[in-house]
Amino acid sequence: MDKVSPEIRSRTMASVKSCNTKPEVMVRKLLHSLGYRFRLQRKDLPGRPDIVLPKYKIAIFVNGCFWHRHKGCKRATMPTSHLEYWKAKFARNITRDKENYHKLEELGWHVLIIWECELKSILKNRIIPDLPKKE
Ligand SMILES: [Zn+2]
Repeated sequence: MDKVSPEIRSRTMASVKSCNTKPEVMVRKLLHSLGYRFRLQRKDLPGRPDIVLPKYKIAIFVNGCFWHRHKGCKRATMPTSHLEYWKAKFARNITRDKENYHKLEELGWHVLIIWECELKSILKNRIIPDLPKKE
């Protein structure tokens, strides 16, 4: 029996974290073209940031709005069935994110979050908000 709606399943598939999910690749390409030096996933850092800029001590997360509950974002919809399950799951995601960001900051990293819904304009304008100017 399959209880998950097709809509949710497609999101689940899309959100499976692999090394090359598309938004991350696009952000990396942009950073590269802007001349920033970065490293890919640092597995030793809390929350495994998607991209790390060692020079600026910036840890970048490219977050899906649905899974990471982008506040006020229309993509952060609430599924209509199994509401309690989803509420609990989202609450865990949010708590885990907060803990990871906090740990990173304690280690001296700046956390920069790029939301999925911001990608289009970031790629179009070639500007990542909050990123220090390249020296
Ligand atoms: Zn969003």
